[in-house]
Amino acid sequence: MSQTKYLSERDLAVNWHPYTQMQTAPPPIGIVRGEGAILYSEDGKEYIDAVSSWWVNLHGHAHPHIAQRVAQQLQTLEHVIFAGFTHEPAVELSERLLCLLPQNQKKVFYTDNGSTAVEVALKMALQFWYNQGIPKTKIIAFEGSYHGDTFGAMAVSERSVFTQPFQQYLFDVAFLPVPVPGREMETLDALTALLTQSDSAAFIYEPLVLGTAGMVMYAPEILDQIISLCHQHQVLCIQDEVMTGFGRTGKRFAADYLTQQPDLMCFSKGITGGTMALGVTTVSQQIFNAFLSEDKTRALFHGHSYTANPVACAAALASLDLVENLEFQKNLDRISTSHANFKTEFEHQPGIKECRQTGTILAVEFAVEQTSYFHSLRDKLYNFALENGVLLRPLGNIVYVLPPYCITENQLEKVYSTLEGMRKLVQ
Ligand code: PMP
Repeated sequence: MSQTKYLSERDLAVNWHPYTQMQTAPPPIGIVRGEGAILYSEDGKEYIDAVSSWWVNLHGHAHPHIAQRVAQQLQTLEHVIFAGFTHEPAVELSERLLCLLPQNQKKVFYTDNGSTAVEVALKMALQFWYNQGIPKTKIIAFEGSYHGDTFGAMAVSERSVFTQPFQQYLFDVAFLPVPVPGREMETLDALTALLTQSDSAAFIYEPLVLGTAGMVMYAPEILDQIISLCHQHQVLCIQDEVMTGFGRTGKRFAADYLTQQPDLMCFSKGITGGTMALGVTTVSQQIFNAFLSEDKTRALFHGHSYTANPVACAAALASLDLVENLEFQKNLDRISTSHANFKTEFEHQPGIKECRQTGTILAVEFAVEQTSYFHSLRDKLYNFALENGVLLRPLGNIVYVLPPYCITENQLEKVYSTLEGMRKLVQ
């Protein structure tokens, strides 16, 4: 191994990257340092991380408060088995998290990432009915949804090229159209028809924004109606806040826009401020109670080696300190206002099919003959942004901005001018 070689060269010899066609992808960019919204590369370039490194980073890179708390925890207790044992960071994190969630959420189950948070929620929902001897086995999800890459999470996600090779191993799911503005009745009608049968166990959904679908957005009022309809028919609601959680929608959680309360919730990504891998599934007392018994076989047989890792919990606690700080909401409001102002100007420009915004998430859909994840425009737009010193990862012809909340007004202006440059490129 030669230390004089660039990281990007050494990397190609040994690493296999996610969501990457390794034959045709350019060498990865070696990042040596991060601070605030900026990533610094080994060849001396700077990139504004306008996608929060796959939607995880909240407060900026290498945040000193999180770094200090993590370092402290590493010197006290790095890990301990979480079956039969517990520790302060997990207890404190659960206590503090539950205080911020809808008040029916009473128990916390830890895993490692968003996909496993979803797997656990699905297993809990199915076993909830199984333990009671009630034959409810069907899962309902939105068309276009994405809930992760493990098998259960893939099964409840849109069938697509992502899932095609595994199609025969994925369980059947009833898919509902997304209630985008003007098409709410289609969703309600489809759901009502489904609910005439009594076999639906649970409905899983990305609240307000379907991320991977291309930041497809819908209103809280219709989601309230959907949850309420599900509850009237004894269908559990699983709210996947893996992406929307911790401020992305302009409030702490998408749940803060709703009057109805989900039965189960999934979190990951921003929970540690983007520092460590951690997944969380929270549930109502009713869900938890269905697993209580003198009979050991009614327990939830699920657990990962690193369940509730103390260092990850410490990172999450440090991040929560920042989430609970007044500055946090101020930044959400500031970014939301900037996005809204930009959108008003930009959405009527030639070459733009649609601009969408929910809180700190802004999406621009460039007008092409057919919107698609594999649209050839994608690589052009991606490279253009990098050349401008901005990290944006287009979903085909849809470009979204989902920044860390410390992003400055100047940096936001640079991101917007990159979008304007993209528009000219497309024209
Ligand atoms: N749910 C949603 C809504 C997501 O956006 C994602 C990841 N993009 C996941 C689940 C899966 O999370 P992870 O990548 O951490 O497994």
